Amino acid sequence: MIPGTWYSLRLERIHFENERTRTFHFCIEGSEFPQWKPGQFFVCDLPLGEKRTQRWRSYSIANPCTDGHKVEFCISFKEGGAASQYFFSEIREGDAIRCKGPEGNFTLPDQPGIPLTMVCTGTGIAPFRAMLSEIDARGNPYSSVDLIFGVRNEREMLYRSEIASWCARIPNFRASICLSRQPEMPLPEHPGLQYLHGHVHQCYDSLLRDMGADRPQPQFLLCGWSAMIDQAVAALVTQHKVAGKNIRYELYG
Ligand SMILES: Cc1cc2nc3c(=O)[nH]c(=O)nc-3n(C[C@H](O)[C@H](O)[C@H](O)COP(=O)(O)OP(=O)(O)OC[C@H]3O[C@@H](n4cnc5c(N)ncnc54)[C@H](O)[C@@H]3O)c2cc1C
Repeated sequence: MIPGTWYSLRLERIHFENERTRTFHFCIEGSEFPQWKPGQFFVCDLPLGEKRTQRWRSYSIANPCTDGHKVEFCISFKEGGAASQYFFSEIREGDAIRCKGPEGNFTLPDQPGIPLTMVCTGTGIAPFRAMLSEIDARGNPYSSVDLIFGVRNEREMLYRSEIASWCARIPNFRASICLSRQPEMPLPEHPGLQYLHGHVHQCYDSLLRDMGADRPQPQFLLCGWSAMIDQAVAALVTQHKVAGKNIRYELYG
């Protein structure tokens, strides 16, 4: 028996974010409605072969579950990937896919008053988009929230206007956008938003340096691919002496 409840998700709309990334807007069919926590994901059963290992792929839910029967996945294209081929060339509006969930423990910490630092690259922003939408709607229970978001250039930045509006609306929220392959920095849309040249690693390095040793260590939430996560976890633990319990991550692959 396969654990978890399966839902049918019908594709309503595809939003082109940039050359390599699209947001897929689905509507959950039927009367059953999964209650997910921001940060959780669905396992999708895609028409990619006979075996479960060929067919199943996980995607973070990019919106909070207060959006009615809507589910958004923000997906980047992986050259030669079977799911990438399906999402970027085959699926059409009106098609339905089967998804199981919600799954995962990568959710907002239940510790009001702590500082929180979210670190992500590319579509690793998806769970944080759901979390920050919830914080925006319900209020910020944390002493501070820092989003450190790495992309190659500003064309690849996702949720740009939402991030700027969270800077204006969420108390003690700051966003640092790290552009690794763009030498000229754009003007920030809000004082709480900064654009930096480089990778996310330089950004949390300076954030931790600025904080000083006498302040409580932030709870780190990291999301993305192993290239970024492995380096970040190693640097936080060995260089910055961040306790293992203060680092949680969602690894995309
Ligand atoms: C819990 C969870 C949540 C996820 N959420 C998302 C999400 O919200 N958005 C999203 O785009 N993907 C997400 N993924 C990754 C997703 O499940 C697929 O692995 C991805 O879409 C590639 O599938 P594929 O069949 O095209 O490529 P595959 O051939 O399956 O890819 C093979 C491997 O390539 C690596 N890889 C895949 N894509 C990339 C990439 N863009 N950059 C670097 N390395 C990559 C991974 O190691 C992957 O296992 C998530 C994965 C997990 C485990």
